[in-house]
Amino acid sequence: MARDQRDYYYRRAKEEGYRARSAYKLLQINEKFHLIKKGDSVVDLGAAPGGWLQVAHQLTGKEGKVVGVDLEPIEPIPGVVTFQADITKESTVDLVKEALGGDADVVICDAAPNLSGAWDMDHARSIDLSRSALAMAEKLLKPRGNFLAKVFQGDMFPDFLAEVKKEFSSVQAHSPAASRKESAEMYIVAKKLLSGPVKPGDVLDVQIESLGKSGDGVAMVDGFAIIVKNARLGETVRIKVGAVKPNFAFADVLDRKG
Ligand code: SAM
Repeated sequence: MARDQRDYYYRRAKEEGYRARSAYKLLQINEKFHLIKKGDSVVDLGAAPGGWLQVAHQLTGKEGKVVGVDLEPIEPIPGVVTFQADITKESTVDLVKEALGGDADVVICDAAPNLSGAWDMDHARSIDLSRSALAMAEKLLKPRGNFLAKVFQGDMFPDFLAEVKKEFSSVQAHSPAASRKESAEMYIVAKKLLSGPVKPGDVLDVQIESLGKSGDGVAMVDGFAIIVKNARLGETVRIKVGAVKPNFAFADVLDRKG
């Protein structure tokens, strides 16, 4: 018997009418992290055969919008728009934008390269796909939008995770129960796209304009508040930005300029 036929989620998908066992991964991830809600606009990158599209359509309901993209054709799903297109191509962003008619609340990506069996190469190609998905997410998402991407683990994983952390307020790596035990796949769950003028790790010179309740300095950059630990009112400091939240950021002083 093929492994899939013995598989609990494979059988369940057949019984419950999902096109792929991976549907349960999205259901479990959403149960835990609440990425997709009723009425949302969702873009699914690498969506064939359409298990995640079915789940996204269920979760967003009648008021929601779901757009799927894959290199392979996708059998139609009523209420879902699909394109046969490459997520690494810039032109795909325009196709999706037009179909959405606005910005997306959530971008999800379960894309996987055709496996060569050479792990380093498959890992690198998986990271490339996820990086394309992240670039698309940055162009498609509204501020505070959510992002989910599958990545095969390997030595490039930490760098990619750090790239995602620069763009979103909260980011975690997670493996749902429906992922096979032996699988090296990992899902990056990223919430609240940051749209402020600073990113974690930025170094800049600012003037402390006021003091917060806790006595920390507050600098404003394009109307965005940066809380600077151990800074005095009126001084100009070189800071390094740490955690960034949708409405403010924290920073440490690197150097005092007077
Ligand atoms: N989440 C899907 C579901 O529930 O049905 C399963 C996705 S499957 C694991 C991965 C998909 O990524 C494949 O259908 C593959 O064609 C697609 N893919 C790989 N590279 C792609 C690319 N450059 N552009 C679009 N799709 C891609």
